[in-house]
Amino acid sequence: MIHLYTYGWNNKLNQLKQDSAHKALFHGRVTIVHRTCYEVISENGMLQCELTGNMMFGKSDFELPCVGDWVIFQLFDENKGVIVDMLPRERILYRKKSGTIADKQAIASYVDKAFIVQSLDDNFNVRRAERFMVQILEEKIKPILVLNKADLGFEKQKIEEHIKHIAHQMPVFFTSIHQPQTIHQLRESISEGETVVFVGSSGVGKSSLVNTLCENSVLLTSDISLSTGKGRHTSTRREMVLMDDSGVLIDTPGIREFGLAIDDPDSLTEMLEISDYEESCRFKDCEHINEPGCAVLEAVNSGILDHKVYESYLKLRREAWHFCTSEHEKRKRDKSFSKLIEGVKKYKTNF
Ligand code: GDP
Ligand code: ZN
Repeated sequence: MIHLYTYGWNNKLNQLKQDSAHKALFHGRVTIVHRTCYEVISENGMLQCELTGNMMFGKSDFELPCVGDWVIFQLFDENKGVIVDMLPRERILYRKKSGTIADKQAIASYVDKAFIVQSLDDNFNVRRAERFMVQILEEKIKPILVLNKADLGFEKQKIEEHIKHIAHQMPVFFTSIHQPQTIHQLRESISEGETVVFVGSSGVGKSSLVNTLCENSVLLTSDISLSTGKGRHTSTRREMVLMDDSGVLIDTPGIREFGLAIDDPDSLTEMLEISDYEESCRFKDCEHINEPGCAVLEAVNSGILDHKVYESYLKLRREAWHFCTSEHEKRKRDKSFSKLIEGVKKYKTNF
C-alpha cells in the first residue's frame, strides 16, 4: 500500500474529505494531466482517471484539476477511476495564459516551495527571477532561487550584487549536478511531505536536478500509450517525482517567462524592497511617478535604489493592474451573463 502522507496528504486534507459529500470514496493526487486523462496516485497505486461531466460543466480551464490537486474518485476497474470531486485548492501556482488578457492557467497546486531555476550562463536574468518571485509570493508559496551550472565558472560577487534586493525574500542556492555537496544542500532544504515545483527556461537543468535529487526514485509516470500517439513525453507533460520518501518534486516543461496573474499590485513594493522608502512619501496614495516629496524617486535619484529595480517595479505594477482590472471586468461580465441566463430561464418558465 502507498502512504499518501509522503505525497503531502495530511490531517487537514483528511478533515476536508470527511466534510465532503464523498467521504466514503477514494482519494488521490493528480500526478500528470494529459488532454482528458488524469494520472492519480492513490493508496492502491497509480490510476488513470477521467472527469465526470459534472466536474467539467461551466468551468474555466484553470478550475479543472491540475498537477498536485487532491481528488475524490470512484474506482471502476483495477487501475481506472472517475473523478467526482476535488478538495478545495490551496497554494496554486498560476500564470497568465499567453495570448490572453486575463485568463490564467493553473500550473500546480498544494505547492510549498517553488525552485526558480536559472543557469549561470546567458540564462541568468534578474528581471525574470523577480517576475517569478512576485507571482510565487502572491500565492503564499516559498520561492527559492536555484542558480545552476555553477561548475561553468561565474563571477559570484557580481551575481550577488544583482540579486541583493530579492535575496531577502528568497534563499539562494548555487548548484551544479557535478558538485554533489551543492545538491546535498538543496536536498536538505526540502522536508518530508513538502511539494516543490521547478520553474525556469528549458535547458537550465531542471530535469537533471530532479534526477540528481532523487537518484533512486522513479518518475511517476505509468507506461500508458496515449491516443494522441505521442506517448509519454508530450509537451504538456508535467511530472511528479517522490524524493526518497521525503518530498514531492514537480518538474514543469520550460516556462521561460511568466505573465503576471496577481490580484494585489500594492504588494509589489514590499516584495521588491521598495516599501521602506514608500513609507516616507509625502502623500499616502503616492504612485511614485512624479509626485512632489516622493521618497522612492529620491532614493532612485540618489542611487540608493537601483533604477533598474525601480523600472522593473513600474513594469510589473502596470502588468498587474492590467490583469486585475481585466479580470474584474471579466467577472462582472460573467456575472451579468449568468443573470441574463437566469432571466431567460425565468421568462421561459413563466410561459
Ligand atoms: P531542463 O530543460 O531545464 O530540464 O534541462 P536539462 O536537465 O535537460 O539540462 C539541459 C542540459 O544542461 C543537459 O545537457 C544537462 O546535462 C546540462 N546540465 C544540467 N545541469 C548542469 C550543471 O549543473 N552543470 C553543467 N555544466 N551542465 C548541466
Ligand atoms: Zn512615492
